[in-house]
Amino acid sequence: MIFNIKKLVQPHLRKFLPYQSARRIGGKGDIWLNANESPFSINYLTKKNNLNRYPECQPKNVILKYANYSKVNVKNILVTRGSDEGIDLLNRTFCIPNKDSIMIFPPTYDMYSVSARIMGINVKQVPLLKNWNLDILNIKLNIKNVKIIYLCRPNNPTGNCFDDKILKKVLEIADRKAIVVVDEAYIEFCYNKTITSWLYDYSNLVILRTFSKAFSLAGLRCGFLLSNENIIKILSTIIPPYPISTPTSEIAEEALNKKNINTIKNNIVLLNQNKDWLIQSLKNNILVEKICHSEANYILVKFYLSDKVFTFLWNEGIVVRNQSEKTNLKGYLRISIGTKNECRKLIDSLNLLKL
Ligand SMILES: *Cc1c(COP(=O)(O)O)cnc(C)c1O
Repeated sequence: MIFNIKKLVQPHLRKFLPYQSARRIGGKGDIWLNANESPFSINYLTKKNNLNRYPECQPKNVILKYANYSKVNVKNILVTRGSDEGIDLLNRTFCIPNKDSIMIFPPTYDMYSVSARIMGINVKQVPLLKNWNLDILNIKLNIKNVKIIYLCRPNNPTGNCFDDKILKKVLEIADRKAIVVVDEAYIEFCYNKTITSWLYDYSNLVILRTFSKAFSLAGLRCGFLLSNENIIKILSTIIPPYPISTPTSEIAEEALNKKNINTIKNNIVLLNQNKDWLIQSLKNNILVEKICHSEANYILVKFYLSDKVFTFLWNEGIVVRNQSEKTNLKGYLRISIGTKNECRKLIDSLNLLKL
């Protein structure tokens, strides 16, 4: 008799739909505008050969350099295996399964809820308003049992930054009740909007950072969690003993050298210019219904017959992200900003499409 192993799986995970990452969705072609990665690859040299030894749990040099880069104290930084590990760690540390909730504001990054649902943590959704702002009234009404509020600024996929004033309201609503996690995965594209200086005013604030976007290191799997010392200390007791491999921390250190930071800054300027060019070009295209204002390295665009546009581009080898199934995003595609050449090819292809 064949035993059905699924019977051993936790009931809520037997039909679990995994996070729909760009890699999992796949596609073929040579223009990848679907994962908000940097189109620029930077070459790093790893040097050491001491892989017989375990790495440091929290590599000191990486933290020192990130402190210097972010202007945050070393005591306020935790290095993680990408910010996805930070999300997992927060959920595991603060939420009791089948009792506590996280709160999210769709449309937003899916990993907050995927991680929570795997752990049996409830997910309260308070959709963004029509102008993509936070719905403060409904946040207040639904705060009961919420242990963590996740918001993303600039928000993925809408591209906007919620106002400082509104953010402060959320922090006040959550005061003594919940942690507020502000995901700054794309903050390098609008660096003056970072709220790292607020860490010293709010004891319930956590900021997530990553090397996966502006730093051109999605393949490295390295992120940072910034918070007050108490939260960092608690999370340090829960984090796995060796989250960061030795080669990862070497490359992370190298990425934070002055020369590389300058390269990254120049790339950001280029990408922001390409974004402006792409927006101007899309404005002249009859397939485009609406372009959302974006502070990040992607734009959310509403197309007439978006599924047709998506499939047409897919067949042309240009892979963008279809957002049509997401909350309030019917007809929307998200386009990552590529090189100037990639942006041009996208526009040339769109001009070929006749409805
Ligand atoms: C891409 C992205 C991340 C990055 O996650 P990593 O695990 O660091 O690669 C985090 N948050 C948001 C909103 C993102 O879009």
